[in-house]
Amino acid sequence: MSGIYIHIPFCRQACHYCNFHFSVSQKQRPDFVRALMKEICLQKDFLKTGPEDKVLLDTLYFGGGTPSLLEISELDQIFDELNKFCELSPDAEVTLEANPDDLDPEKLVALRNSSVNRLSIGIQSFHASDLKYMNRSHTSDQAVKVLNDALKAGFESITADLIYGTPGMNDQLWKENILRLISFGIPHISAYSLTVEKKTALEVFIRRGKAAPVDEEHAARQFEILCEITAQHGYEHYEISNFGKPGFFSRHNLSYWSGVPYLGLGPSAHSYREGLRRWNVANTCSYIDYLQNGQLPPFEQEELDKDQQYNEYVMTALRTMWGIDKELVKNRFGEQYAEKLMHAAQKYLKNGKMLETSSHLVISNQGKFLADGIAADLFVDHK
Ligand code: SF4
Repeated sequence: MSGIYIHIPFCRQACHYCNFHFSVSQKQRPDFVRALMKEICLQKDFLKTGPEDKVLLDTLYFGGGTPSLLEISELDQIFDELNKFCELSPDAEVTLEANPDDLDPEKLVALRNSSVNRLSIGIQSFHASDLKYMNRSHTSDQAVKVLNDALKAGFESITADLIYGTPGMNDQLWKENILRLISFGIPHISAYSLTVEKKTALEVFIRRGKAAPVDEEHAARQFEILCEITAQHGYEHYEISNFGKPGFFSRHNLSYWSGVPYLGLGPSAHSYREGLRRWNVANTCSYIDYLQNGQLPPFEQEELDKDQQYNEYVMTALRTMWGIDKELVKNRFGEQYAEKLMHAAQKYLKNGKMLETSSHLVISNQGKFLADGIAADLFVDHK
């Protein structure tokens, strides 16, 4: 099993909260696509495990940035290049992230006729004031239209992103957002608490008093509302930020969380294989220059030691509904780690933020909003 992630580093407009690698200029897009095709060829052996001609892919994910800015002809070129070295498994999940203002009915039908079988649509909110606060490039009407058009084009597997905790959105408006999205009958929702990342426009605006600050209690309450409403409508809360109907959990995400090897292509993309993590330079000009000269772009890498692998397992597992597998910890990392885990977990088992079953340690409903902090408390010190 393996997967590929492709980072498309272009956006129409810079969302104020975003710290991903992207450019709002599209000038370099043709050069980028040519460079990406070269990178595919140069990286063809990264996922190989034997003498087979082609790597079998279970998941392919176009993220970014905004992959829906790609023309269908550009996507076709990328697929053609990938097909030389990889084969999509018969039931492969092929996801494309999209913004509502990029997809008209014609493009959606063309996408449906390509290998893309899952759309991840960045809706974020149906309220104009929120969209303005976040500086999204689309309107609420465009969000409604793209959801209807995507369903009409025949996409069954659709996920959409929402953001909660924005200062202007009260609980009633948040409920309306969730219910409105659910009303389309899509099988998967991802929802994120608005986070003020360093070096973003939002951080500067808040610091200068030009934007209202984000309040954690407000976000925690809206997270609870989200959990209640999605459960009432049959979505399983399988990961802190992800809610899916049975059969529609994101296989791309599940692979990440379970340590399946993946290759990241494009500037800033991360790859992982057997404890080795590496990430491409987060600079599109440099990425293109190197590949135009037939060389792989610069990357950094680190070999995760046992402590880091353990901490990573704890972080990802605790965020899922399955939790931390006690036996797995003992077998993969050793008795010492299993003991440390149980010792560190006591406080949360006592205060009800975690639960223990015969085989697993699981985050409770009460602890979910604090999952990352709790996981960090369970980490071993990394030398
Ligand atoms: S569209 Fe996505 S990647 Fe682009 S700026 Fe907005 S949040 Fe960031």
